[in-house]
Amino acid sequence: MSLDTRTDDGWATTRFVVLGFGTAGYACADSLIQAGAEHLVVLDDRDNEALREKAVILETLGATITLGPGSTAELPKEVDVVVTSPGVPPHSPLLAQAAERDVPIWSEIELAWRLRDPATAAPWLCITGTNGKTTTVQMLTAMLQAAGLRTVAAGNVGLPLLEAVMDPEPYDVIAVELSSYQLHYTHSMSAHSAAVLNIAPDHVDWHGSLDAYAKDKGRIFENCQIACVYNVADQATEELVMDADVIEGCRAIGFTLGTPGLSMLGIVDDLLVDRAFVEQRATSALELAMISDVTPAAPHNIANALAAAALARSFGVPPTAIRDGLRGFRPDKHRIAHVADVAGVNYVDDSKATNPHAAQASLLAYEQVVWIAGGQAKGATFDELVIAARDRLRAVVLMGQDKQVIAEALERHAPDVPRIVVEATDTGAMQIVVGEAAKLAQVGDTVLLAPGCASWDMFANYGARGDAFTEAVHALDN
Ligand code: ADP
Repeated sequence: MSLDTRTDDGWATTRFVVLGFGTAGYACADSLIQAGAEHLVVLDDRDNEALREKAVILETLGATITLGPGSTAELPKEVDVVVTSPGVPPHSPLLAQAAERDVPIWSEIELAWRLRDPATAAPWLCITGTNGKTTTVQMLTAMLQAAGLRTVAAGNVGLPLLEAVMDPEPYDVIAVELSSYQLHYTHSMSAHSAAVLNIAPDHVDWHGSLDAYAKDKGRIFENCQIACVYNVADQATEELVMDADVIEGCRAIGFTLGTPGLSMLGIVDDLLVDRAFVEQRATSALELAMISDVTPAAPHNIANALAAAALARSFGVPPTAIRDGLRGFRPDKHRIAHVADVAGVNYVDDSKATNPHAAQASLLAYEQVVWIAGGQAKGATFDELVIAARDRLRAVVLMGQDKQVIAEALERHAPDVPRIVVEATDTGAMQIVVGEAAKLAQVGDTVLLAPGCASWDMFANYGARGDAFTEAVHALDN
């Protein structure tokens, strides 16, 4: 009896418990039913109208759904496999019990890998990292599409990977964004090629330590077939390649903002070049695109473009499609988005910079910055960021719950940089923040919202925070 592909014989008899009934949990349960599972229990501690409606659909198909407080306290006795949702930490009672009883635990990604149709299965090009995942996976999709391939961005990026895998019309290749949560319980995936963009402290509470977090990211390289792509500037990513068990012949490919060495993609003059997937790589490099083809042409975003290009090239995408994909690509909202120029000052919304590593990358893209920061720091520290960016800081405007953490780092490493602390947290707060920033900015400066923190203390999400910023900037204009 096996469960390695959709047409195997084990799906009907295996007893599955799906933990969590959100987007991922629903996709898991639904796909298991499509694969013929006859013993399926779904558990979630939440209970509301929307969940119940979804439950009814699956119950008519034979699943047992238990919702409400306490539902996930106890692992059922009769279970062969637990399929878990990304938000659930390993130390939660049900997963701890499963681990203790040696019941295999699968992520939605593991299930998707096993539910591929052997006749039509598309190769996966996979991306993880602390920052830049969504942007890079979308750049990759644009390149693949420019090459005329039928593809889709799936995984952590929005569309559940299972939906892409179960799509009746097969894809040529799938661009997959993976989070560390998803990778933690992924065991048998074998990516065509995979990339780790960078590693910085994030989600350490879920994983237990930075080391455990990095190791989970490194699982993306296990069984990799063609290329393991790492960031030359971030040694931790290269170490993950060295530690991985890959398919024989799989190559380590670096990307760098400097001149590329052998088996790397990098920059020469104003060009993105490939010295990895060309036959004459010992002596020459192939031009892929110009730096000006990348929007925004901030250093970290050029690095994202190189990582995406490395994956695309490993799949045989020609240079012209790399260039055309990049030219047509614009990042999603709130990612270094130019809002307006007001009185000679450039206003930029990078509300998606929700940790210091991301905020640092965007600060380093501008020469003189009035930096707007603060929110929920999630235990992060800002010392490294302040040291790296202090020469560019015209001034800083701080807001939100953990503004003090940032103020202290500034006091330690950049005491002369003017800082304004805004105490207000209500709906008018952002207007005050932007007003203060406008007063501090000089002609030619950039006012950059790159909070380095989560937004939930003051806003519904990072999108709402960016919208409030945009509105306040436009109000300045009038
Ligand atoms: P993710 O999906 O990993 O959250 P996004 O592509 O949505 O990444 O980008 C989130 C934020 O991370 C951006 O707004 C930017 O501030 C920052 N960022 C993007 N790419 C990088 C990178 N390569 N290195 C560091 N920070 C980055």
